[in-house]
Amino acid sequence: MTASKTHRLLLWAAATDRTFEERRVGPSRQRVLSGKCIHCGRRHTLTLAGEPLSSATVEHIVPKNHGGDDSIANLAIACTRCNVLKGSRLDCRRWNDPVLQRVIATLQDRRAQRRRDPPTWLDLRPTPPT
Ligand SMILES: [Zn+2]
Repeated sequence: MTASKTHRLLLWAAATDRTFEERRVGPSRQRVLSGKCIHCGRRHTLTLAGEPLSSATVEHIVPKNHGGDDSIANLAIACTRCNVLKGSRLDCRRWNDPVLQRVIATLQDRRAQRRRDPPTWLDLRPTPPT
């Protein structure tokens, strides 16, 4: 993934996650979005261009190797560490593996509960991935 695509997906994931709130950080009082890792709840911060100021990564809830896409419901923000751990523990399992299915169901439920419409003041161009 290119950096710009990663930033776009991160921004869309944060914009549609109610744990991500606007804050101002640093001496320049930069506006950022700050919210929680889908796995562990650790706080992550993005610029309003989607550039991570922490170790935030794009989590595909249904893994890409199992056909997971870039749709909003399948995207979440996760720590690098959480993302890598999930990947190495789960992504290699077969699709009907009960552990894989349970983790996906848990993350989908959590993502759905956090879901919101993007704030109207946020510039989310280009259009969302479908
Ligand atoms: Zn985490």
